[in-house]
Amino acid sequence: MVEIDKIKAAVAGISQGRASGIKEKDGAISMMVDVAGLDQAGRESLAESIKAAVAAAAPGVPLRLLQTAERIVPKLIAVASGKGGVGKSTLSTNLAVAMRRAGRAAGLVDADIYGPSQTRLLGLEGVKPEAEGKKMFPTIGAGGVPFLSMGQLAAPGQPIAWRGPMAGQALSQLVDAHWGDVREIIVDMPPGTGDIQLSMIQKHKPVGAVIVSTPQDLALMDATRAIGFFNQAQVPIIGLVENMAGYICPHCGEVSDPFGRGGAEAAAAELGIPFLGRIPLDISVRLASDAGEPPALGEGPVAGAFADIARRVSTWVDNHRGAAA
Ligand code: ADP
Repeated sequence: MVEIDKIKAAVAGISQGRASGIKEKDGAISMMVDVAGLDQAGRESLAESIKAAVAAAAPGVPLRLLQTAERIVPKLIAVASGKGGVGKSTLSTNLAVAMRRAGRAAGLVDADIYGPSQTRLLGLEGVKPEAEGKKMFPTIGAGGVPFLSMGQLAAPGQPIAWRGPMAGQALSQLVDAHWGDVREIIVDMPPGTGDIQLSMIQKHKPVGAVIVSTPQDLALMDATRAIGFFNQAQVPIIGLVENMAGYICPHCGEVSDPFGRGGAEAAAAELGIPFLGRIPLDISVRLASDAGEPPALGEGPVAGAFADIARRVSTWVDNHRGAAA
């Protein structure tokens, strides 16, 4: 009996999102490998590592690899919250960083028109993207993350009265940029579930959405609304992340739970959606973020939490290839 989930998990870790349609037939494993953008050596080395991963996960089982070279259209992964201030931007940045750190070709778009903050989080304040006509080239931020922001479209200090269609068009300009070999773009959505968010996701259907919440009841109620919103728009929910869970006192080391604990996990179970993990409330997260050094680039429990969440999101994306329009 071949354990297909085990094989999928083993391949997800090394395939950079290029393997799809992994299945077992007549005692052999088959899968498609998208080799677009790779040279001959890159294709061979990818095939070799996939073969090695499958051989380790399912020794002796024959493998059939079908290589394809489609044009790369990056998949969008929305990061959303029902309200502001719960750590949506922090998660978006660190998810992109952690995915790149794991070898995936991830990029990041800051579509939070109410308060684009990623330029600071990625150490890119004041850096302007170059453009060829209207088509922009992403700037490269901390951790090598290719990045574009709504903030880069507006003149500094210029308030913009965003309406739904405008926000949708602005997002198009960011998404239709020269993304090179980027295969998945994390999109930091504006908080809330109004017309603007709806226009954005109708125009650019993400493959899935990650919802962020704190453990508080109020924040969770907002998260529940966000989940209903994506359900209605027929965008699958990848899962729920609990942020600011468990405060570690920098002085005495005691762990306390200012916003409660486990609320998001219980809510995820109740709503029947996956729980992707929790990020502790840690002053180092804010300090590192403010300094333009995403904590996911470091070592320790916080970086580990982001890496775990990134792994779960990556596995989900790999298993849902082509599931969305
Ligand atoms: P949102 O995008 O939801 O408005 P942000 O990501 O901007 O939220 O986070 C709000 C504030 O909380 C920022 O100052 C950020 O550095 C801080 N923050 C976010 N997550 C954590 C955490 N786990 N521990 C400590 N501070 C955090």
